[in-house]
Amino acid sequence: QLTPAAFIHDVMDCFAEAEGKRSHDPLYCNPHSPPATGFPVDNIPVPVVIVGAGPAGLGMAALLGEAGVPYKLLERCSCIGSLWRHRTYDRLCLHLPKQFCELPLMPFPKSFPTYPARDQFLEYLESYARRFNIEPQFRQAVVSAEFNGDFWWIRTKEVTSLPIGGEQDTYSGKTTLYRCKWLVVATGENAEPAVPEIEGTGRFKGQLMHSCEYRSGAGYAGKQVLVVGCGNSGMEVSLDLANHNAITSMVVRGTLHVLPREMLGCSTFGISLWLLRWFPVQAVDRFLLMMARFIMGDTTNIGITRPSLGPMELKGVSGKTPVLDVGTIAKIKSGSINV
Ligand SMILES: Cc1cc2nc3c(=O)[nH]c(=O)nc-3n(C[C@H](O)[C@H](O)[C@H](O)COP(=O)(O)OP(=O)(O)OC[C@H]3O[C@@H](n4cnc5c(N)ncnc54)[C@H](O)[C@@H]3O)c2cc1C
Repeated sequence: QLTPAAFIHDVMDCFAEAEGKRSHDPLYCNPHSPPATGFPVDNIPVPVVIVGAGPAGLGMAALLGEAGVPYKLLERCSCIGSLWRHRTYDRLCLHLPKQFCELPLMPFPKSFPTYPARDQFLEYLESYARRFNIEPQFRQAVVSAEFNGDFWWIRTKEVTSLPIGGEQDTYSGKTTLYRCKWLVVATGENAEPAVPEIEGTGRFKGQLMHSCEYRSGAGYAGKQVLVVGCGNSGMEVSLDLANHNAITSMVVRGTLHVLPREMLGCSTFGISLWLLRWFPVQAVDRFLLMMARFIMGDTTNIGITRPSLGPMELKGVSGKTPVLDVGTIAKIKSGSINV
């Protein structure tokens, strides 16, 4: 039974995570800051502005287009699906079965596997954009959005270069101001790399990178690599490094839920959704944890402690997603990855 103190601890943990992400987001606007004034007005009226041409922005654009609602889709990168194209590692496949990741009005091709690979996902996004005639305005970074009671005023800067790592984007002097009735923010929750300040990194002689710069473990054989963070990315990067014979260690700071990607031959995510239709979330969590323990054993034994709230309940109250294991736990157990 969860005590109120443990509940608050779990939830605060996750708010701290969201706050941490924001503090590393150079484009995050403090809601209490005074509205910007004095920028040049190149007043372009459109009913709807969508910010971000990732999967969410594309899905929104397709639905608006089909309903005959004019929109403007603004994207700071020079391509669609920039997260998947430029900030993911080579071995990445969807962690969820394709039917749970498809965009509205167009399923994945039947020929695609259950868990499409990164390039297949990008191919799907490209054909989606073609099918619904979606033509984003590229290299337009939205730097402010203000609502004056009637309209949104959205200011963009033209992007000249967009670094993949932690540095800031660079802009030309060109600024555009859009006026619209509705604003859709589809900038994603993983769009900004969060790099914490770690004492001593300035003196560290080795290579230091954020996971969004990591492509593959090739070239790391025999090298000592420490992976900081054990969400879905950290776990899979560790697995990839171990597969390439790197001497891999992983730091686990807090508690986390790891579930097998599949149970009894079915996707864990699919089973959870199905069970949640009939049973309370606590009962579903008990089932998931029992199965996880049966399949993977007690993760505390390998240095991974579970939060007191169950995986689905925690997701509901804080948005924190359980890690879906694609082989890392077996590597930890076999000693190829140190926790
Ligand atoms: C390694 C990794 C693995 C993942 N695996 C899965 C998975 O298996 N299944 C799954 O469903 N999800 C997965 N995700 C989650 C991923 O966030 C989603 O797949 C999806 O990309 C979210 O779509 P989105 O459109 O909300 O955001 P994003 O894909 O992040 O797109 C946001 C877009 O907004 C643009 N943008 C941001 N700020 C601005 C601005 N100020 N002005 C203009 N444009 C801006 C960005 O350039 C980007 O193109 C994974 C994420 C990562 C990092």
